[in-house]
Amino acid sequence: MAILVTGGGGYIGSVLVEVLRERGIAVVVVDNLSRGHRRAVAEDVPFYVGDVGDGPFLRGVFREHSIDGVFHFAASSLVGESMHDAGAYFRNNVGGLLRLLEVMLEAGIGRFVLSSTAATYGEPTEVPIPETAPTEPTNPYGESKLTCERMLHWMGVVHGLRWAALRYFNAAGASDRCGEDHTPETHLVPLAIAAAAGRRGPLPVFGLDYPTPDGSCVRDYVHVEDLAEAHLLALERMSEHSAEIYNLGNGEGFSVLEVLDAVHRATGRPVPWEAAPRRSGDPARLVASSHKARRELGWTPRRDRLDVIVESAWRWALAHPHGYAPPRGDVLPHGHATRS
Ligand code: UDP
Repeated sequence: MAILVTGGGGYIGSVLVEVLRERGIAVVVVDNLSRGHRRAVAEDVPFYVGDVGDGPFLRGVFREHSIDGVFHFAASSLVGESMHDAGAYFRNNVGGLLRLLEVMLEAGIGRFVLSSTAATYGEPTEVPIPETAPTEPTNPYGESKLTCERMLHWMGVVHGLRWAALRYFNAAGASDRCGEDHTPETHLVPLAIAAAAGRRGPLPVFGLDYPTPDGSCVRDYVHVEDLAEAHLLALERMSEHSAEIYNLGNGEGFSVLEVLDAVHRATGRPVPWEAAPRRSGDPARLVASSHKARRELGWTPRRDRLDVIVESAWRWALAHPHGYAPPRGDVLPHGHATRS
C-alpha cells in the first residue's frame, strides 16, 4: 500500500514526502511541475508528471499502484494572483479536486487530506481564530479552498469519504533537504532573505496602515516540518474519525516588520525595505488557535519560535543559492504525462 501526494514536488508536499519516507511509508507523487520541482523529491520515489484534473492520467497511476490514502497539495495558492485571475483558482482548485475525488472514489480510495488555508476565514472577528469562526474569504483563493472543503463534506455524507482539511497559516522554514523555491517568489520569508543577501532590491512592505501595532500585517508562521507531521497524525486519526477541519499554526502573530527583524538576526544582515501600497485581498491579522489539532491529533509544533523557522530557511538558502535549478546541461522532465 502506498500514499499518493499530489503536488509532491512543491514546497510543503516535498517536505511531507520526505517525512513519509523517513517513516518507511511508500509514497507516490503526482505533480504537473507548473510550480513544483522534480529535484525536490528523492529519485527513487515514483513521480508522475501530469494534472490531477486529467482523469485518464490519474486512473493510470491508480492502476499501477495500490494507493490507500491521498494528500492533496496540487493547487494554486497565491492570494495576490487570485485577485487577478479568479477563474484560474476555481478551475484549478475546485475543478481539479472534483476530478481527483471522482477517480479516487471509483478506485475505492477513501482517505483524503486537503491542504486548506487560513484564507478561508477572511478578516477574523476573533483572534486567535478557532475553526468555528465565520468563514468570509476576502480573496478567490480562500473562497476556492472553502468550496473544496464543502465538496469534501458532501462526498463524505453521500459516498462515505473520510477526509480532513488542514487550514495552514503561514508555512515557512525548511528541512535540510527541502525548502521554498517558487517562480515567481511571492512569500515574505524567502523574499526577505534574498533582499538581506543582496540578491534582490529592497523588499516592498505591503501596507503600513493596518490596525496592528506597527501598521504591517500580522501572520502566524509555522514550520513546514511541523505542518508535515500534522498530516501524518490526521491520516492516522482518519481510520476512526472523519470529516474534520483543523487549524495549523503556532498561535502567535508576527508583523511583517518583525519578520524582517528575525531575518536580520538570522542572516546578520539588515533587510532593505520600502513602504508599498497594500496588496489586495490581504486581511490585517491571521493568527491560529490550534487547540483542536493539539487536542485531537496530539500535534505539538516543535519548531515554534520565529527565529528557529527563519534560521532554517536561511540555512537552506545558503545551501541552495539557486533553489532547485539544475546544474548546466541537466535537463529535467516536464510538460507531459509520464513517469520519470
Ligand atoms: N508581504 C510583504 N511584502 C512582500 C511579500 C509579502 O509585505 O514582498 C506581506 C504580505 O502582504 C502578508 C505577509 O507578508 O501580509 C505574508 O505574505 P505571504 O505572501 O508570505 O503569505 P500569505 O499571508 O499571503 O499566505
